[in-house]
Amino acid sequence: MGRDTGVEGGVGRTALMVAAARAIETQRPDALATDVYAAHLVRAASTSADWPLRIEDVPDGEANPLWGRLARYFGLRTRVFDDYLLAAAHAGSWQIVLLGAGLDSRAFRLDWPPGCVVFEIDQPDVLAFKRSVFDAMGAKPQATRRPIAADLRQDWAPALLEAGFDTNAPTAWLAEGVLLYLSTAAEYLLIDTVDRLSVAGSALAYEIKLGPESAVVQQGPIYRSAKQQIDVDMIALFDHAPRPDSAADLVNGGWSATTRTAFDFAREHSTRMHGCGLEPMPDDALTANRWVFAAKAGDRSANGGTHRLLP
Ligand code: SAM
Repeated sequence: MGRDTGVEGGVGRTALMVAAARAIETQRPDALATDVYAAHLVRAASTSADWPLRIEDVPDGEANPLWGRLARYFGLRTRVFDDYLLAAAHAGSWQIVLLGAGLDSRAFRLDWPPGCVVFEIDQPDVLAFKRSVFDAMGAKPQATRRPIAADLRQDWAPALLEAGFDTNAPTAWLAEGVLLYLSTAAEYLLIDTVDRLSVAGSALAYEIKLGPESAVVQQGPIYRSAKQQIDVDMIALFDHAPRPDSAADLVNGGWSATTRTAFDFAREHSTRMHGCGLEPMPDDALTANRWVFAAKAGDRSANGGTHRLLP
């Protein structure tokens, strides 16, 4: 693929970072999400084997920008998209497609309704690592699980179809923490492919970053600590080209779309997140992040007008 594809380096390593955040979230007294597999995944890779798995193991605790603030963001994100996917599955979307699934363990840890199929698309080495860890644990998925090694920068639809994707069934799609690393062309391709393969009633959630971020933000504590502490250079890995307004494209194509921030959800979960909620901060790496929730109505006239996400 022209770049380091394993979990030990390159963009695959970001999957370990998010898994470590989920491990830490799992051990918090006010955990928003529980992922009992995350710690095993982090310990299984040689370069992350010594990363902290509990906030108590971090010398500066919650004040640490990586394992405090950013990990809490990932914990909240996990919970929000857990709730979203389960709601979609219970509403009839029995096909779930995780785009850039990384070390996501939702197929194993969520209580899926009967008959669900979870497709996981990611790089071959990431999926191979994940398989080795889950196999060693003897973990059993709670839904039919279909890992698919494919490059999201190229046409990945044939691989999904070959894996048994049903083009007549409503689907819940998730692109969590992946579009940030893809080019504008790959984002167009992803949104277009999702639209093309979605029947009415399908749902799509994805995370984007309104860009570009200022030099002050790029040199801020979250990015700096990820680079210094675990050698994940997100600024170098992100694609910094101007982003398409994918929510607008979806709405113009007959979907509805809502755009929300993590801070919106932090307020909703504030009772549970006692003492360490997520509040907006100046020059913060989380400020530009948006979570988009789209639903395909199947009737182009249903939405009308245009939806602009980007300023
Ligand atoms: N969605 C997962 C989560 O939230 O835990 C993983 C997020 S991780 C930050 C980004 C994932 O995107 C990595 O697993 C990486 O391998 C995957 N990825 C990045 N570029 C990709 C590409 N071109 N094709 C397939 N997967 C890709």
